[in-house]
Amino acid sequence: MARTTAAQKRVAPEKSELLTLYVRHRRRLSPTFERVTLGGADLARFIPMGADQWFRLFLPVAEGTLTRLPNRLDTFAYLRYLAIAKTQRPVLRNYTVAGFRSGGAQGPELDVDFVRHGSAAAGTAGPAASWAETCAPGDAVAILDEGVLFAPPTGLRGPLALVGDETALPALAGILASLPADTTGSAFIEVPDAGDVRNLAAPVGVDVSWVVRDDPHATPGYAVLTAAVEASEAGAVVPAYAWVAGEQSLVAAMRRHWVRVGVDKRMISFTGYWRAPRAH
Ligand SMILES: Cc1cc2nc3c(=O)[nH]c(=O)nc-3n(C[C@H](O)[C@H](O)[C@H](O)COP(=O)(O)OP(=O)(O)OC[C@H]3O[C@@H](n4cnc5c(N)ncnc54)[C@H](O)[C@@H]3O)c2cc1C
Repeated sequence: MARTTAAQKRVAPEKSELLTLYVRHRRRLSPTFERVTLGGADLARFIPMGADQWFRLFLPVAEGTLTRLPNRLDTFAYLRYLAIAKTQRPVLRNYTVAGFRSGGAQGPELDVDFVRHGSAAAGTAGPAASWAETCAPGDAVAILDEGVLFAPPTGLRGPLALVGDETALPALAGILASLPADTTGSAFIEVPDAGDVRNLAAPVGVDVSWVVRDDPHATPGYAVLTAAVEASEAGAVVPAYAWVAGEQSLVAAMRRHWVRVGVDKRMISFTGYWRAPRAH
């Protein structure tokens, strides 16, 4: 589940209904990412919002199990979802719109960039990562649009501060691409492998820094936290709006830092995308 504060603004979609989509194709985007492209007639009803637009992704556990899902996901519907027997209950995870194309020979297309973690073959990957590595054209999924969490006040041009680990790369890419050309600020992105670094469309006034994790055993997010805090202390610029997403410890520590240096709490968007197992 996405964790945010009640005070945090989010831009909800105009309408959110369950859409059944089908895998068109998948490809290895870079060492860490598997890009799955989805299509299907329902996608004509999807409204792209840009920035860090995210959605609930339901993966079937057996043939026909998507048909029992609620059309919306309020608390009551979520409880009903949880009441479905485990052998029949689709897996529910959260993902970001990495790309959307309304036109195409076969209709609209939506890209999802999955971080590969663990190994599907060895049974050490989570269900979503494992599905992304093994799905085939025609496989069905369902999605529920949840809208956008990046919501600076209208007209604000910076300085912005954006920080994320690899799970937040699709969101950061979407945010950077959606910023007005005169925006200023900085973005820090951590990835596990130098091969994951790619060109991102961003305003010239936004400085994009990549942090490649040099220790494969380090908790994701620690390296980017260190880099972003060091740069913030050296530059002594207090962001007007700050956004962080990724592993829960990164998110909590980054937010604490921004509050300490004087960023207005209402101007911080922070979302724990996932939680690394803690050492006991
Ligand atoms: C709003 C939102 C948007 C998101 N967008 C994306 C996105 O576009 N792309 C993306 O890849 N992720 C994204 N995530 C994160 C994704 O939902 C989680 O990583 C999710 O837990 C993956 O599910 P899973 O079934 O593979 O693993 P799970 O079954 O959830 O977890 C199994 C084990 O794997 C570990 N784990 C989970 N994720 C990772 C990881 N990335 N690296 C290493 N270990 C991990 C867990 O700690 C656990 O021990 C997003 C999350 C949110 C809340």
